[in-house]
Formats: sequence, structure tokens, C-alpha cells
Amino acid sequence: MSQARAGWSPDSPVEYPPVFVWPPRPAAAARWFAGYPGYLWPFNIVYVLVAIGVWCWATPSVSTMSTWAVGWVGFVLVRNAVLMTAWYGAFHLRLYIRKSQEQRFKYNVKWPAARNDRFTLGSQARENVVWSLASGLPIWTAWEVVTLWLFASGRIRWIHFSDHPIWFIVLMLLIPVYRDLHFYLVHRLIHWPPLYKTIHSLHHRNTNPGPWSGLSMHPVEHMLYFSAIAIHWIVPSNPVHAMFTSFHLMMSPAPGHAGFEHIEVGPGGIDTHGYSHYLHHKYFEVNYADGVLPLDKWFGSFHDGSPQGDAAMKARRLKRSSSSPVQSDQAPRTASSPVIDAGASSGGGASPQGREQRC
Ligand SMILES: [Zn+2]
Ligand SMILES: [Zn+2]
Repeated sequence: MSQARAGWSPDSPVEYPPVFVWPPRPAAAARWFAGYPGYLWPFNIVYVLVAIGVWCWATPSVSTMSTWAVGWVGFVLVRNAVLMTAWYGAFHLRLYIRKSQEQRFKYNVKWPAARNDRFTLGSQARENVVWSLASGLPIWTAWEVVTLWLFASGRIRWIHFSDHPIWFIVLMLLIPVYRDLHFYLVHRLIHWPPLYKTIHSLHHRNTNPGPWSGLSMHPVEHMLYFSAIAIHWIVPSNPVHAMFTSFHLMMSPAPGHAGFEHIEVGPGGIDTHGYSHYLHHKYFEVNYADGVLPLDKWFGSFHDGSPQGDAAMKARRLKRSSSSPVQSDQAPRTASSPVIDAGASSGGGASPQGREQRC
């Protein structure tokens, strides 16, 4: 790792997990899966524990959620508002207000400007908070309460750990992989120039992102992004699975957009692994996935942060521009998407009574 004057960058290229490799590397794959840091630790374990805790102790009863009522929906909205604000606020407070580790491990050497009229309300932080809480929060909550109502009213299949222990665990383990695939597909879709210009360019205003940039999206992007939870309408699941998907969706953009590779907290600190997505915010047309599945490598949009990755990206751009007068795959360079400012600163038949025994 190096902390040059231009900001932190890795000494070695960004790599995918040692899973989709040939020849196979079973020992390295096992270390990645169960080691620290790795697939499970620390973030996915945190998201699972939060999801279980919220389901057990901060979610209305199944009988209450089986019929629509303002009371329980309002409760979930307020609970989600508190959790979203606490999670994103904790990152922002530590890294950007208290500046507890100054610029150590910060990708971009500049701090987002306190005043920047390119953003609504005159600052990146204010715009990010407004879009997250005014659009992200209600749309996330809407997807969640519809899913909870479908479970509670017996309209979708509800499996129990005691009946399907292996499937229960396998599904839990696959959710972050599924999230990566869903995110990649939605992300590619909204980089289609007409959708980019009207929808996704809002998120890409953040060329020097901070934690709150993670959910600073256009409402249509929020609708698409949080739609990942609808998989549980089709695949036999337990509400705990849906809550894991829901909280993974809400929580994971914070470390992914923190703007720091390493957070100096506790013994040893925590790696965010946000560099790959930072490069996406910097170059627009690389690294659409989030680092679990090597989709960008397979489909030719991977940038590993190295000079070779840079050269490959430039060669792709050159090839496109020479083959077509319109750079159809490239993000439109509009006022709202500046080039790179480097930081201007048991089945559904189970009885409701049985399902109340949730934890
Ligand atoms: Zn982003
Ligand atoms: Zn994008």
C-alpha cells in the first residue's frame, strides 16, 4: 500500500477472490471464505447479525403484519430511519467530521468542499443525506414492508431452519453473491446513455465519494437497486433471509463509498475494499460489479488500479471511438457527470401462530 501525494493507492493490483481461478486454489479459497478479512468477516457477519437482531427485536409481530395498517408500517419506517442515520452517520462523523485518521488510507487527497454549488443545497454532504433519507429510506422501507406482508399473510413460501437446515444456510451464504450479480445487472442497465443521463448521473456527481454518497441515488435507481429483495418472493426463504438482503442493501454502500481503504478502528482496523468502486466513480465505465464475482473481468470492463489496467481502459475507449462516431457505451460527459474532478473538494402453509416463534 502506498500513501502518495495524490492519495492512497494499492501497491499491487486489485484482485478477485481466489475462487474463479484455474488451476483451483482450494486452500486460498477456504482462507478467503472463512478468514479475516474475507467473505464472511467482518462486514457480512455484521449485516447478518443486524438483520437477525432487527427481525427478532425490532419488527412487528407476524399477525400484525398480515394486514396493512399505518401503525406497523410507520414503525418500520422510523426504525429504518434511525438505523440508516446511525450507520452512515457513524462513518461520516469519524472520517469526515472528526477526521479521526486525517488522510491516512484516503483515496483522494482532497476533502469534499464544504461549499460546492454543483450539488443541491450547496454541498455534497447535504445532497447525499437528502437523497438517502428523502428517497432511499422510504423506497427501501417500501420494498421491505411489502416483503414482510407477503410472508406474514402467507402469500409467499416461508421455510423454517428445522425443516430445511442445509438450504437455509446455503441461501444465507449465497445472498452476498446474488447481491453482486443483481447490482451488476442493474448498474449496467443504468449506464445505458439515456438512463445514465436522466437517472444514474446523480450518483456519479460524487467523484470524491463519502459514506453518504453510497445511497445518494435518483428514486428510479433506488427502486431498481432495492428490488433485489424481490428474489425472496420467488425463492423459498425465511424472513431472516429477506432481512439479510434488505440490510445488506442498506448498509454495504457506506463502507463501499467511505473513500478510505482502511478504517483505523479497534485492534488492527477494518479494510473497506472500496478501491475498485472508487475507480468506478473516477473512470465511470469500469468495475460495475462489487468485487465478489469477476463479472467485469469476464465482460471486459475490469480496472485493477495498475498502469496496465489504465492502459487497457484507454485502449478500449480508443477502439470504441474509432469504431463509432458516438461513444455509445461511455458515460455522457454532461455538467452533472463531470469527467474527473479528483475531488473538488416451512412453507407458506405454516400457521401464523407457528410463525410467531421467530427467534
Ligand atoms: Zn457508487
Ligand atoms: Zn455507475
